[in-house]
Amino acid sequence: MNMLNGYIDLRSDTVTQPTPEMREAMTRAELGDDVFGDDPTVNRLEEQAAVKLGKEAAVFVTSGTLGNLASLLTHCRRGEEVILGDQAHIFRYEAGGSSALGGIAQFQIPNNPDGTLPLDRVEAAIRGDDQHEARTKLIALENTHNRCGGTVLPLSYLKQVRELAKRHNLKVHLDGARIFNAAVALGVDVQEITQYVDSVTFCLSKGLSAPVGSVICGSPEFIAQARRYRKMLGGGMRQAGVLAAAGIVALEKMIERLAEDHVNARRLAEGLADMPGVTIDLERVQTNIIYFDLTPQVKVTGEAIAQRMLEHHIKILPGPARRFRFVTHVGVDHRDVEQVLLAFNAALKD
Ligand SMILES: *Cc1c(COP(=O)(O)O)cnc(C)c1O
Repeated sequence: MNMLNGYIDLRSDTVTQPTPEMREAMTRAELGDDVFGDDPTVNRLEEQAAVKLGKEAAVFVTSGTLGNLASLLTHCRRGEEVILGDQAHIFRYEAGGSSALGGIAQFQIPNNPDGTLPLDRVEAAIRGDDQHEARTKLIALENTHNRCGGTVLPLSYLKQVRELAKRHNLKVHLDGARIFNAAVALGVDVQEITQYVDSVTFCLSKGLSAPVGSVICGSPEFIAQARRYRKMLGGGMRQAGVLAAAGIVALEKMIERLAEDHVNARRLAEGLADMPGVTIDLERVQTNIIYFDLTPQVKVTGEAIAQRMLEHHIKILPGPARRFRFVTHVGVDHRDVEQVLLAFNAALKD
């Protein structure tokens, strides 16, 4: 049993705790003042991240939200525009930061169910020099795509976006909070993905189990400017090596094992699909995220189901309109999956 504080916690992969090896590395980490560039452990994390993602430079930031915000601020000035999906994390869950703090306009395009943006609509959304219009500067993608079910963007699609962006002199930013889930699911090196984008942020604190932090990767000029924005936004940290040390372990030790989370998610999804009262699109269960709905035949409310699950020491988040999201991670093993299925099946009964 792999439980977190006695619970099987399916609310998110953000609930993962630092591994014993991370705690050990955090204790031993060599430290300095990172705003002065003096923290050797942060410097090492940034170098390793840049190499791994095939970019020339990287900066360690407090969160994925700050990473996306600093990236957007770097790509776009006030009155300039980013094209992104209406299901994008940047649009939905980042408190409107790039508009509030950067004056950046957002052109939202409805995401396809697989997380892609229809290319013809992206192209039609691009605006030029007309004084009536915001200037388009950036296309922002998300991979894996959280609200679309942890779906993986096909490499051929990324290539097409890259070419489109080039034709129109636009940059591409990737919200790659879970980019390693995408790489593992595709069975490719992560650089196969990042070769098509100018900048990318990824999270150390989700499936990779580090306690805090994300990394932005890009060109040296881009990262230098993003570093200024990190400071401006209050994200300059001092002896941040205690956190970066866990991030290094995350990069070195925690990526390949994401495949287990995908296997567990698949098993969980198939078990749910067999339950009367559940509708689920198995094709969209590609990584560690599972979305599903309850049919009208189920009379129990989402809240009541969550309460019943809690009595079995299982934490879930009931979404609006009885849509559920389950997320697998290192704290959920295959026996836990069977236990969840038993408990959930029972919880659906009147
Ligand atoms: C989690 C997440 C982020 C960043 O979230 P933080 O909680 O700020 O670290 C960004 N994009 C996606 C798709 C995410 O899932």
